[in-house]
Amino acid sequence: MTAQMMASLWTGPEQVQTQQVARPEPGPDEVLIKVAYAGICGTDLMIYLGKHPRAKAPLIMSHEFVGTIASEGVEGLPLGAPVAINPLLSCGECPACRRGVGYVCEHLGLVGIDRDGGFAQYAAVPVHTVRLLPRSLPLSRAALIEPLAVAVHAVRVSDLKVGDITAVLGAGPVGILTAQMARLAGAAVYVSEVSPRRLNIARRLGFAVIDARSTDPVAEILRATEGEGVPVVFETAGVQATITQAGQVARILGQILQVGMPKAPVEMDLTPLLFREVRITPIRVYREEDFDLAIRLAAANVLQLEEPVTHILPLNELEKGIHLSHEATDACKVLISPGAEAP
Ligand SMILES: [Zn+2]
Ligand SMILES: [Zn+2]
Repeated sequence: MTAQMMASLWTGPEQVQTQQVARPEPGPDEVLIKVAYAGICGTDLMIYLGKHPRAKAPLIMSHEFVGTIASEGVEGLPLGAPVAINPLLSCGECPACRRGVGYVCEHLGLVGIDRDGGFAQYAAVPVHTVRLLPRSLPLSRAALIEPLAVAVHAVRVSDLKVGDITAVLGAGPVGILTAQMARLAGAAVYVSEVSPRRLNIARRLGFAVIDARSTDPVAEILRATEGEGVPVVFETAGVQATITQAGQVARILGQILQVGMPKAPVEMDLTPLLFREVRITPIRVYREEDFDLAIRLAAANVLQLEEPVTHILPLNELEKGIHLSHEATDACKVLISPGAEAP
């Protein structure tokens, strides 16, 4: 009899079933991971709604997961070793890959979108996606490494300088992590947000918080900079309001880091940006080095990675978790903990 496991399967638009399935058998160049935590991301919501262009049902979603090695025989990956998955699957052949920038591969795939991911007790993944973690790093904190890698990438490609005033528009998981990275880089950080729960997280972390329900973030940021605007602004919500605000608070020769992914086309008035020669730098995912740095920063315990986590749910509450993340009012990062039995 083949070994079984519990998995939350996406079976079609707005359908998730938690059921027993065959535990995956790792093929050549693959290794079995016993999943400890798997994060719910906006991309999982798009898949769940049937709006993701590539995902095909049935699928085990989640590209943000950590766990321990559960199969033997792969050199350098001993049984029980704690690991994170760098989910990027570049093709290796397109012009981007040939130029050594596979993170913007033309055919970029992800574990959890283009093949089964982490909303299950076990996942078989390509060996090249596996990153060993220090044993001193609790997996509950390591669970945020993938979104942290996005924040690391955004801040490190930005022009941010020590002592700058900067703004992060949106305090979702990536916004909160970006704000922490910007502070680590030496900036004074304003964070604007509309969700009370997320505002509270930003407040607890000591950021200058703007409650965008009652205060105009543009007026507040301009006041803080004597009307000049900020040299670097991070847009992390991906909605029309914050994208418009980003254009209004970027100062002359400033830079907008477009981190939030808009779910539909948005409008941007380019003329004022042209007059001020403001650059827009889009952030898609992260480079290899950003992911590895995210692991080191998590291990160094210089960031508060547990703070954005508002919920840890079992597999059979994935659908609830997706709704919580989507509504955003009372949630920030939602993790699924499959509680796998010993292999
Ligand atoms: Zn994600
Ligand atoms: Zn490629």
